[in-house]
Amino acid sequence: MENEISGKTRLAGLYALPARHSFSPMMHTTSFKATGVDAVYLSFDVQPERLAKSIQAIRDLEMLGINLSMPHKMEAVKYVDELSQAARLIGAINTIVNQDGKLIGHITDGIGCMESLKQNGIEIIGKRMTILGAGGAATAIITQAAIDGVQAIDVFNIKDDFYQKIEPKLAMIAEETNCQIQLHDLADEQQLSEALAASSLLINATRIGMAPNTDQMPLPNESLLRKDLPVFDVIYHPGETKLLKAAKAAGATAVNGLGMLLYQGAAAFKLWTGKEMPVEMIQPLLEEAIKN
Ligand code: NDP
Repeated sequence: MENEISGKTRLAGLYALPARHSFSPMMHTTSFKATGVDAVYLSFDVQPERLAKSIQAIRDLEMLGINLSMPHKMEAVKYVDELSQAARLIGAINTIVNQDGKLIGHITDGIGCMESLKQNGIEIIGKRMTILGAGGAATAIITQAAIDGVQAIDVFNIKDDFYQKIEPKLAMIAEETNCQIQLHDLADEQQLSEALAASSLLINATRIGMAPNTDQMPLPNESLLRKDLPVFDVIYHPGETKLLKAAKAAGATAVNGLGMLLYQGAAAFKLWTGKEMPVEMIQPLLEEAIKN
């Protein structure tokens, strides 16, 4: 019978800790079936000390590849044979592709964000943008935006120990991509106001506003928002953060992180199978899964 598990069925999966809450098995197994790919996708709780062996298993078991999530995204870089440009610049991977035993590491979060912007009619290539946060999601977005040709990026982060660490990494990304990237203190309201005035897009890549802290907003005041400043929030739970509500109230396009989640998966699916994920079928399933 078509699409039943057979001797030829290939395995893909997620290595994370915890991994069992993930939406990826639903996204990928549904997409394998819909596109006629003979493969299944399972979640694996992988302990850090088992990561090297688990990655070797991709070769040994001739798996299609895997996704990686916390806490393995940075550590896994050591165990693959090659890295995409973005993965090398960031020093993290969320996808491994098994090319006949050669493992290629990619990071698709930034690709997911850029695709979601495009799908929402937000044109940022050749322009300037502001991003709040410089953590994992932010770095992936900054790097992909820089590779894709965004002209300048103002990055705002709280001035903690992490601030000092991220500064040289952003400088390296800027140098290799010719994108002007400047790091600023999130508490510097004057600088933030100037950056936003010159920006064609604001991205929130902090956790501020995420459930259960839905009454919080990463901007000091709503008057910084305006009609011609689209706002993208990496958060997808709640579907509309306080920031996105304020952006809408200002008349701006407001986009949540669901599309980023969907398209990072679609990018991994394409890397493994060469096929397009049927996103119009997966999106409502993902919305339903997040609600529950
Ligand atoms: P990280 O911990 O790597 O980064 C979080 C960022 O938020 C850092 O810049 C951090 O600054 C900043 N931050 C945290 N608390 C505060 C605060 N109180 N005030 C100001 N800044 C703060 O997390 P991730 O990048 O992995 O995740 C960030 C968000 O992105 C989460 O909500 C996550 O769910 C979402 N996400 C969405 C994805 C999607 O596909 N839509 C994919 C990945 C993540 P510092 O480190 O200096 O404290």
